[in-house]
Amino acid sequence: MAPEVLAAMNEAAAAFVDIRILHSKAGEKIAQLLGSEAACITSGATAGIAVATAACMTRGDAQKIIQLPDITGIPHEALMLKSHRTLYAQALRVSGARVREIGASSQITIRQIEEAVSENTALFFFVAAFEQTIESLPLSEISKVMKKYNIPIVVDAAAELPPIKNLKKYIEQGADLVIISGGKEIRGPQSSGLILGRADLIEACIANCSPNFSIGRSMKTDKETIAGIVKAVELFVSKDYVQEMKRWEAMVSKIVETLSPILGTHVRRGFPKEPSVQPAVIPRVFIKPTSSTAQELQSRLMMVEPIIYTDLQADELVINPQCLEDDEVSLVTEAIIGLLK
Ligand SMILES: *Cc1c(COP(=O)(O)O)cnc(C)c1O
Repeated sequence: MAPEVLAAMNEAAAAFVDIRILHSKAGEKIAQLLGSEAACITSGATAGIAVATAACMTRGDAQKIIQLPDITGIPHEALMLKSHRTLYAQALRVSGARVREIGASSQITIRQIEEAVSENTALFFFVAAFEQTIESLPLSEISKVMKKYNIPIVVDAAAELPPIKNLKKYIEQGADLVIISGGKEIRGPQSSGLILGRADLIEACIANCSPNFSIGRSMKTDKETIAGIVKAVELFVSKDYVQEMKRWEAMVSKIVETLSPILGTHVRRGFPKEPSVQPAVIPRVFIKPTSSTAQELQSRLMMVEPIIYTDLQADELVINPQCLEDDEVSLVTEAIIGLLK
């Protein structure tokens, strides 16, 4: 978090506020900054999944909100592609929804999606990171079907920043709600998240969110977090991403240059092809050690001090510069050289 974000949180900590007013006003401010119709602040993207699900199930009906997770008489199916199933999707079930997976891997067709729709359908859940996989279908095609039946689409785009235009892209492709993590590229508090999108559904999200008595009451967003995420979004929208991309490129070049001469490694710059920690637009370093497997190198990097967390793609180790400070690059290269020797 930037010092300005910490300062905003500090200031909030010393103030008495009406948390309901703060929560909705802060949502309005964030919607304005991000060019969204409306916004709801949650205690993380995963809490956002739980709250958005409750919103789609109840549509803000006060009686239904306190009835959950008892689903009697409430549409309760969350449809999703089998290939999009992540462990975060467990949050769909918090309010009693049943997850209905569609399509056995690569056989998926739009027709199967249409056949899965029934009067029990509450929402369609789509994970942006998986859209490019062969077992997926384009959001815009899925949305044509869902619009026909008036079923909201919730897109988990938790890690899909940058670019900022992604926020509008999913809406243009038919998303009704888009969920973003506050603690990733936005660099807000770790336990913050945003739901962006349709005003009527956001109103239902707020009704299902802390401090209102609902499923979301146990996922509280405190005033410090609310103040912090507002400030972080302010800084995020004014950030120069041309410059930031240059900084990431420079870090990648530096790592490639430093490791290339080391015997027993193949090092290259590239972009991830498999869904993992996104977004895919940030360049990565791919390392293929020859004296050990990439997996062995990854586990050994988890044992150095400080721990260095890397990713794997096929038989290569992947370094994402997104969370690195400039002066941490040498820490990474020195640790890898040490282990390879
Ligand atoms: C990171 C991530 C989440 C979880 O975000 P939190 O803010 O930590 O809850 C959910 N879905 C996807 C796709 C993610 O990448």
